[in-house]
Amino acid sequence: MGPAVEPTAAAGAGEVLLGKYKLGRLLGRGSFAKVHQARRLADNTDVAIKVMDKTRATITTMEPNIIREVSAMRRLRHPNIVRIHEVMATKSKIYLVMEYARGGELLSKILRVGRLTEPVTCRYFQQVVSALHFCHNNGIAHRDIKPQNLLLDHDGNLKVSDFGLSALPEQLKDGLLRTACGTPAYTALEVIGRKAYDGAKADAWSCGVILYVFLAGFLPFDDGNLALMYRKTQRREFRFPPWFSKPVRWVISRLLDPNPETRISIEALMSVAWFKKSPNRSKEYVDPFQLDLMTMLP
Ligand code: ATP
Repeated sequence: MGPAVEPTAAAGAGEVLLGKYKLGRLLGRGSFAKVHQARRLADNTDVAIKVMDKTRATITTMEPNIIREVSAMRRLRHPNIVRIHEVMATKSKIYLVMEYARGGELLSKILRVGRLTEPVTCRYFQQVVSALHFCHNNGIAHRDIKPQNLLLDHDGNLKVSDFGLSALPEQLKDGLLRTACGTPAYTALEVIGRKAYDGAKADAWSCGVILYVFLAGFLPFDDGNLALMYRKTQRREFRFPPWFSKPVRWVISRLLDPNPETRISIEALMSVAWFKKSPNRSKEYVDPFQLDLMTMLP
């Protein structure tokens, strides 16, 4: 952790200084944290600072999540994963200083336009999958993939955030996880069923749900009543809207395979023709796997 800092009022400006950062507007609120935009005074770079209260209740519930979030983000340097810069603490608060995703949540964009077109969906989906492939190769499962945790930067590139529920390699004893967690509408059947599960395959299920949501603008399994929603998920009661193409339907069906052993893996998904077509990849986006290849070429 970085040196303790106490927020101070900046001279005359009514602004709050937090060590070397000037705190700006509120970007969002989670269950236990507030996230502010802030500016690093040394180089005028914008950052996002997640502020968590160290009240007894928060710390007892949240400490494992904070440790997981920081440990995972520190290990993951990837163009589609929010980078963590530093962690600071005072007696009463913890501050996570992160890369600022200026474009906000992808969910807000989807809600604004209703649903995404297939080329736009394909590009965002490639970026989530590339980030998850990188996580899994580092032994980390995200376990809470949903559009609320997918942020956009100033170039419109996607950044996976919120690693508070992630599973780290040291949590694995026999390669399987046991804690039921995540957001119900996006959670794999085997996680809901409280069986031992493979975290990477559980993330693949969530990818099936987000791919559906990107293109439809609504959830495949939805009900105000949680028990009924689980039943729909168990029975795989969902329909493809008529505008879903054949290859997309195939990809979603393979990701929403109830059997994790036969469910398509993130690795295998990357060689599916629909996934590989690159209709709208932005110039700024550099695929780390292409980079690896470039360094290996003579
Ligand atoms: P949850 O209750 O979903 O676990 P949380 O307490 O972990 O939430 P976050 O989801 O990490 O908090 O952040 C809350 C909101 O703040 C996000 O939904 C997003 O709108 C905004 N936010 C978080 N991180 C960033 C960032 N790096 N850049 C821009 N906005 C961000």
